[in-house]
Amino acid sequence: MKLRNKINLYTSVLFAFLIIVMNAALFFLFSKMIVDSELDTARNELENLAQEIDQSLGQIPPADLLRAYAPLDGVIQIVQDVNGDLKSTIGSNSDENRKLLDEMDEQFYQSEQTEELVLGNQHYAFSSIPIILPDGEVANLQTVQSIQSAINILQLFRIVLVIVTLLTLVPVLISSRILSSFIMNPIISMIETMKDIRESGQFKQLKLEGKSKDELHIMGDTFNHMITLLENNYEKQKQFVSNASHEFKTPLTVIESYASLLKRRGLQDPALFEESVEAIHSEAIRMREMTEQLLLLAKHHEQWNIEWNDIQLKPFLLQTAKAFEQAYNRKISFICDGTSIVRTDEQKLKQLLFIFLDNARKYSDDDIILTCEKKNQKVLIHIQDFGSGIGEEDLPRVFERFYRVDEARTRQNGGTGLGLSLAKEMADVMGIQLELKSEKGAGTTVTLMFN
Ligand code: ATP
Ligand code: MG
Repeated sequence: MKLRNKINLYTSVLFAFLIIVMNAALFFLFSKMIVDSELDTARNELENLAQEIDQSLGQIPPADLLRAYAPLDGVIQIVQDVNGDLKSTIGSNSDENRKLLDEMDEQFYQSEQTEELVLGNQHYAFSSIPIILPDGEVANLQTVQSIQSAINILQLFRIVLVIVTLLTLVPVLISSRILSSFIMNPIISMIETMKDIRESGQFKQLKLEGKSKDELHIMGDTFNHMITLLENNYEKQKQFVSNASHEFKTPLTVIESYASLLKRRGLQDPALFEESVEAIHSEAIRMREMTEQLLLLAKHHEQWNIEWNDIQLKPFLLQTAKAFEQAYNRKISFICDGTSIVRTDEQKLKQLLFIFLDNARKYSDDDIILTCEKKNQKVLIHIQDFGSGIGEEDLPRVFERFYRVDEARTRQNGGTGLGLSLAKEMADVMGIQLELKSEKGAGTTVTLMFN
């Protein structure tokens, strides 16, 4: 069953049930009150009659007396118990009324009695009270009086209630329809959008109407947010793939052209052979490094396996600087005072430092300065060079993947533009804050701040 129909059905049935129960309770309560009051009246009247009859009983024959007091729509009688046999004296205004007594069981009661009787399909109030006859015998004075007019009113009341119940069900049905469309419309539009996305393969947003911040609005909002995230990720991925393939195109073209040159004339010309092999070799190395970096970048943060250790910063930095000096034959001035201990992943920190040292090496010719210090309880590492520097307009973008400031120069230096983005990712995972200060033509200082 559809959700809309379920809401309709459940709300309508529930409301209908409540209304019926309420009206039925109202009817039974009201009819009990009416009948009780009719019975009370009948008993009070009988008590009054008993007093009056009591005074006249000795003087007027009972049959005449009762006829005089007989009610218009009922009978009055005196019932005597004579050794087990019931003897009754009846007073009534018509034979029809007198016949009422034939339909009911005649009984003698020891105490007062009042009840509702249904004879045929007519309702009567029956009352009986004990009286003492002039001869000292105990008898019952009993009346049977119609209460049909009250019952007629109750029947009318019942019809009115049934009509009212049916009429109130109409707005209930309408409101349940409104409620279900209120809930279902945003859901249906969401389903439509999802179907659209599935069929067209394009990211689409839900149209959110109204300013209410109800759960459905929040759901729609969350959906839109999710679609935006997916779209962004998809775009990033697309860009990543296109950037990567673009980056591979050049080295592959270089390798291809040198390889075909070698095929044609390589053996005759040793200088050309040397140059080609050198170029192919360096491009191959560059591609391998780029692949490694790409693979690292493609990994998600959770996959970075960090091994936390307390390390002595000074000897660690000194060793890193020495290794770098050996590998690239570049002078690194090392200034570090204090005996700071930091909690970090040694291998990853070294990788991070190599990225910055590598940039400093590539983009400057003078000495590189590596310093460490403690400032405001925080350990800082600076890598400073006096090279080309980065212009203000490029500074915010150098952490983007594949971003290089000067294409021609950096290509000549062999950069791929992946170093700083990788550094940023690693620093984030290790809880290290990065700061890049640079002035075009003057140099660059990178600061690593431990938390
Ligand atoms: P890769 O590091 O992947 O081999 P790359 O060095 O070009 O390539 P990044 O390390 O991400 O890439 O640096 C991005 C750009 O920022 C560089 O191309 C360069 O233009 C600029 N840059 C980075 N460090 C410095 C620096 N110390 N001095 C001058 N420019 C720099
Ligand atoms: Mg670099």
